[in-house]
Amino acid sequence: MLALAAARLGFDVVVLDPEPDCPASRVCARHLVAAYDDLAALDALAGVCGVVTVEFENVPAGALEALIARGAAVAPGPRALSTAQDRVEEKVFLNAAGAPTVDFHPAATADEASEAAAALGGHVLVKTRRDGYDGKGQAWARSPEQASAVFQSLGGRPVVLEAPAVFRRELSIIAARGWDGAMAAFPLAENSHEAGILRRSIAPARAPLDRAREAEGIAFRVLAGLDYVGVIGIELFELEDGRLLVNEIAPRVHNSGHWTQDGALTDQFEQHIRAIAGWPLGPVEARAQVEMENLLGEDVLRWPRIAAEPNSRLHLYGKREARAGRKMGHVNRVFPL
Ligand code: AMP
Repeated sequence: MLALAAARLGFDVVVLDPEPDCPASRVCARHLVAAYDDLAALDALAGVCGVVTVEFENVPAGALEALIARGAAVAPGPRALSTAQDRVEEKVFLNAAGAPTVDFHPAATADEASEAAAALGGHVLVKTRRDGYDGKGQAWARSPEQASAVFQSLGGRPVVLEAPAVFRRELSIIAARGWDGAMAAFPLAENSHEAGILRRSIAPARAPLDRAREAEGIAFRVLAGLDYVGVIGIELFELEDGRLLVNEIAPRVHNSGHWTQDGALTDQFEQHIRAIAGWPLGPVEARAQVEMENLLGEDVLRWPRIAAEPNSRLHLYGKREARAGRKMGHVNRVFPL
């Protein structure tokens, strides 16, 4: 979708992806089939690209550093990526930037996990520090003993223990920052998850003006604090008393921003391309109300019915295999504002 947005603005896109038949390879000008840290491929990218970006946060930050060493412009930069890749560094950064999170403690051993759980009141969510996504690499514990067992079951890797957020609902904000420091945020989305995977987003979310302002303030503090260039996704908990906490940041376009394709004046993909290319940011106002539904695994087989709905806009990713829980596409159901 980034490649399509870039093509529409007149850019040629070179994709680096280890998978020979990846969806982006079918809509880009050139595909380099190599690992993300393959130096010959990074040489080639740095040689031909005006700017290099990522659409997946687990690209090694070292690959971005190698690109910068070869003279490439890279956005977002390695610091944004490495901060988002480690749940502890992420939370330390967020709190310092004035973007509050739940209380948390890191742990590197089963004993530390048990002590951290006790310090947080016993009921905790244990998450691996790195490589977690879509609810993978995390589990609840109800006591310090359970926390050390969960630590082991997650592979004995370094973890972060989080206090439970007692939230009224989950929101997210998609925002962008350009090379010149200009910033813009889309209206809030309200998100529902099943088994840790985003299922639906409704946007613009109904929210009082001060809540929307607070979310925008958080987004702008995060963007400025990371000296970020590009689009970022910020997942929020709205607590019973209306306060907002940040759950996590995604240094890329975000699933909960897919509604913008059919509901905002500029979509998040074009906004990202504009930001990294040094263009002015586009207008972010909503032009429709959208309900975005993710099509997971065999949900995608419903496409003929969805395509026949009068108000649906179907987006399929061209993935060849519909594994259970895999994001295969999404549908935006569009309503007047
Ligand atoms: P994450 O992988 O951090 O995005 O977490 C996936 C989902 O788990 C979130 O969207 C929430 O629904 C839930 N979750 C994550 N962290 C917490 C927390 N500290 N308290 C309550 N629920 C959480």
